[in-house]
Amino acid sequence: MNCHVCGSKMDETITDLPFKVRDTSIVIVKDMPVLQCQSCREYLLKDSIMQRLENILKAADRSVELEIVKFAA
Ligand SMILES: [Zn+2]
Repeated sequence: MNCHVCGSKMDETITDLPFKVRDTSIVIVKDMPVLQCQSCREYLLKDSIMQRLENILKAADRSVELEIVKFAA
């Protein structure tokens, strides 16, 4: 898989990413497997990861401003 921005090779890696789920709420997902570009740091999510992420964000507590969730398989 090559980067859609610069064309360099993308590697699988584990990272923490923040997602805005509402104007006032942010969920930080820890230990998430992503494909990341070696040169420009752009990242991509695989379909299976994307689906699980959607479930995590749906289940997030929207009454708190910042929630940290571990991306456990
Ligand atoms: Zn790139």
